[in-house]
Amino acid sequence: MPEMKYFRRKICLLGDGGVGKTSLIRRFVEDVFNDKYVTTLGTKVTMKELNIKSPQNEQPLKMTLMIWDIMGQKELKRLLISFYKGAKGALIVADITRKETLESINDWIQSLHNCVGKVPVLFLLNKSDLMDQTRMKQDEIMNLAKKHGTSFLFTSAKTGKNVDKAFMRLSEMLLQKEEKKRSSNKVSMIGETHISGTPEVKFSKKMKIPNISKDSESV
Ligand code: GDP
Ligand code: MG
Repeated sequence: MPEMKYFRRKICLLGDGGVGKTSLIRRFVEDVFNDKYVTTLGTKVTMKELNIKSPQNEQPLKMTLMIWDIMGQKELKRLLISFYKGAKGALIVADITRKETLESINDWIQSLHNCVGKVPVLFLLNKSDLMDQTRMKQDEIMNLAKKHGTSFLFTSAKTGKNVDKAFMRLSEMLLQKEEKKRSSNKVSMIGETHISGTPEVKFSKKMKIPNISKDSESV
């Protein structure tokens, strides 16, 4: 039986006030949580352990998500830097009954990416139990997701629809991104070794990369 690996990653929930960020976290975490109120930052951090599979080798992993919920509004820009710091991904939430909350998504992504680089994001169109009141067109949502190279889910914190799936999918996205980064680091390390050590061996992108070590940090 292989040894179980444990990870801890920070994610943020972003989106205008009232879109359902806190409700989504409550729904996801239910009564199995530890939480801490960080008054100075106006944020709340909730922990939840997930059972997830490694994108590299399908091995089961345990990942503790530190879910950061912002209490204030985006006007609190100076607080956002502390809020984003160390985040490895974000769920960006809009309320399907308020079109302007979809329009704000660009600003949320930009401020996140300016602060922590291009971490994975997933869009949530929340309050999907109120679909009859929506003024958003599926095309607009799809185009916005495409523009940011991501996808979206219709969620409902009220009914629970797609809530677990949203957190799970984001977690998988961030593991995949980390794995991709690790593989490209291996490629450049191996490339450098060949170039400086044995100049006659030219590095080729097609070269098969050996599985470096079973005990490496790979997931
Ligand atoms: P936040 O400001 O983004 O954290 O939003 P809240 O979680 O405080 O939710 C704002 C309001 O929307 C509250 O009255 C919630 O009960 C309501 N709400 C949140 N999610 C849903 C949902 O999926 N469906 C419906 N119908 N109401 C929701
Ligand atoms: Mg809230």
